[in-house]
Amino acid sequence: MSISTPLTLVVNCGSSSLKFALFDPRESEALLGGLAECLDAADARIRFDADGERTVTQLNGGGHREALAALLAFLAARGLLERVAAVGHRVVHGGERFTQSVEITAEVLADIEACAELAPLHNPANLIGIRAAIAALPAARQVAVFDTAFHQTMPAEAYLYALPQQYRREYGVRRYGFHGTSHRCVSQRAIERLELDPTDNALIVLHLGNGASATAIRNGRSVDTSMGLTPVEGLVMGTRCGDVDAGALLYIARRAGLDLDGVDTMINKKSGLLGLSELSNDCRTLEQAAAAGHEGARTALDVFCFRIARTVGALAASLPRLDAVVFTGGIGENSANVRAKVLERLAIFGLDVDHERNDVTRGGACAVISRSHRPAAIVVPTDEEGTIARDTAAIAFGQSASAAEVA
Ligand code: ADP
Repeated sequence: MSISTPLTLVVNCGSSSLKFALFDPRESEALLGGLAECLDAADARIRFDADGERTVTQLNGGGHREALAALLAFLAARGLLERVAAVGHRVVHGGERFTQSVEITAEVLADIEACAELAPLHNPANLIGIRAAIAALPAARQVAVFDTAFHQTMPAEAYLYALPQQYRREYGVRRYGFHGTSHRCVSQRAIERLELDPTDNALIVLHLGNGASATAIRNGRSVDTSMGLTPVEGLVMGTRCGDVDAGALLYIARRAGLDLDGVDTMINKKSGLLGLSELSNDCRTLEQAAAAGHEGARTALDVFCFRIARTVGALAASLPRLDAVVFTGGIGENSANVRAKVLERLAIFGLDVDHERNDVTRGGACAVISRSHRPAAIVVPTDEEGTIARDTAAIAFGQSASAAEVA
């Protein structure tokens, strides 16, 4: 690594967290990374993973600004700060305005602000990170990478809700989809690994983490996805309900006397695996509990897997055939049990799970886990930070993403 190489800092601000990673554009692995969490709470802290060591610093109730200041001080102490020439920011909602990653100008900042109405929990946190980074690193190029951008290729029949269209015109109510950076990165890797024709392929990517979504991808473009206006629609998630009869929400609200904030909390924080199991939102915890005989944990995992398989069936309507089902995210990459249960329900597509391969695939490995070849089932680790870094380098340093990937 030469001293003069410009570096790319990736910043991902969540509502109470800040994930970061530092990249040399010529290398695919991050130089260092870490996470600030419990921001704006007494326990606020930041963790640095660098040089094979993990260090934690308390932030004394600090928020995103304090976390970023601690990160910059950490980089400065190692002589790395002056080499940060570009900062890539994850932005959750780009509305209809952003169809790809862009350099952040005053106009772009105003547009991201306008999109905040569509993602009131996420975009404001992303904006704090962007403003703090501009203030701290005024000479660095700042780039926004949107969760929604990849899905802007969906056709109208996939993105329209059958609601009065006045609300689409006035408030932008339509389906947008999320996890786009992950779906884009993982689909490209799967196409390469399976040696599919880049101009003629048909995939379904299952991003299964705490948040979960599935996308139908035709020739590298998103043609339908399970999330909608917000990240609540679609699959069962850690604490989000996914698809539910809108009438059921009205019924519960009336019967239980919930106001809109109460319904918001219920569908976002109290549902999903947690609501079903009445135990935990965490897949690993539920698998251990189910193995020990916990009925709720077993039911929650059954519903989770059933809904994933059912969604694959629905997404297939957007594809001419199915070349591969791709698993990624913390659960998709690590849970052989979830993958097997999903694939067992997809025999109608000709999928046939290879249990031996499936059982040993975890921890960031890329592997085909089906006996069938077309369609194949494959596990591909996601790399959202690396993808943001490559987009940022391409825009800031004029480097093509593929060249950076190869380097
Ligand atoms: P996020 O959406 O917050 O980025 P992740 O992609 O990190 O989430 O996924 C977190 C989920 O992955 C949790 O439910 C966790 O239990 C699950 N997970 C991680 N490792 C395993 C494992 N070995 N077996 C089963 N589930 C796992």
